Amino acid sequence: ARRADSDGVVVIGLGRFGCHLAGSLTRMNHEVLAIDRNPAQVQRWSAQLDRVVQADSTEEGALRQLGITSFGRAVVAIGASVEASVLTVLALVELGLPQIWARATSQKHAKILSSVGAHHVIFPEAETGDRVAHLIVSRLLDFI
Ligand code: ATP
Repeated sequence: ARRADSDGVVVIGLGRFGCHLAGSLTRMNHEVLAIDRNPAQVQRWSAQLDRVVQADSTEEGALRQLGITSFGRAVVAIGASVEASVLTVLALVELGLPQIWARATSQKHAKILSSVGAHHVIFPEAETGDRVAHLIVSRLLDFI
């Protein structure tokens, strides 16, 4: 049965952002299914993560075969390829994932992700830049 509140999270794309996300969730005792199409990335993270599989996430059938419909949440952590990111979100929407998070690299990318059906759009680089700016300013104030 599909549960939106299920602890399981599918993380797609194990680049710098995706691997940290998958690692954090794993340490927080959440069930993580990590997917990347690059066998070298799969090999690289297989020791640290419980389940890492090689698949092209733009292929709805491949995702279904991996059993992702039993997961409540998925995060599309692909950044550089807008096409792969959008097609992956589309596949997740078609499969009926209850909560789809997707990473955008620009405002236009974000608009496309939302219109395709992503429930949450995130901007890791922009959000980290903002946070670090606040951190630096607050540290500067320490010296005044
Ligand atoms: P980061 O900044 O997080 O390192 P990036 O933007 O530099 O990401 P991307 O090209 O977005 O890198 O790729 C992130 C990961 O997503 C890579 O490991 C890549 O193999 C994987 N990826 C890209 N397309 C697909 C796809 N269709 N299916 C599965 N994984 C994919």
